Amino acid sequence: MNRLLFGIFILLLLCPLPSAAETEGKSRYVTLRYSDKELLHDFNDELILGRKLSYYLANKTIVTVEDEVLAKLDTIIEKAETVLDMFPDKLHITVVLLPTKNEVGAMYFAKYGKKVNHIAYYSLQEDTIYISVDDAKLKVVAHEIGHAIVDHYFQVRPPYTIHELLAQFTEKHVTE
Ligand SMILES: [Zn+2]
Repeated sequence: MNRLLFGIFILLLLCPLPSAAETEGKSRYVTLRYSDKELLHDFNDELILGRKLSYYLANKTIVTVEDEVLAKLDTIIEKAETVLDMFPDKLHITVVLLPTKNEVGAMYFAKYGKKVNHIAYYSLQEDTIYISVDDAKLKVVAHEIGHAIVDHYFQVRPPYTIHELLAQFTEKHVTE
């Protein structure tokens, strides 16, 4: 091995591996990003839709676990739009799965330099939901999706309190 090649080889060894969210899947409303299959399976197990919402899954083509997760997210989004009576055009959001709220907090800190104890958050700038798979219940997902829909619907962003009230409203009524 000549010295140049050896140098490149050493550089490659020193490069950090990408840590999170390398895998990507897409549906009508969602681009889903996650680091590995285990995380995806855990998220799927945590995200229980309940009887009424599950009914809508029957109409979708589901082969893989990723298909199932994307179908669940699309179903929650459609239901949340109905709950809010807001149907924004071309709604498409990114959902990033993170193992625990520690990684959610670390992501928030990296972006905003603030320490928080969130199990999930929706970034208005990135149009992205970051969520802890450990805490990923239907109500948590519905709440963040509520934020995303409200954000897409209004031309002028409503005040924070109204944004939050509408997200809570979505969370409360998504199972009805
Ligand atoms: Zn909120």
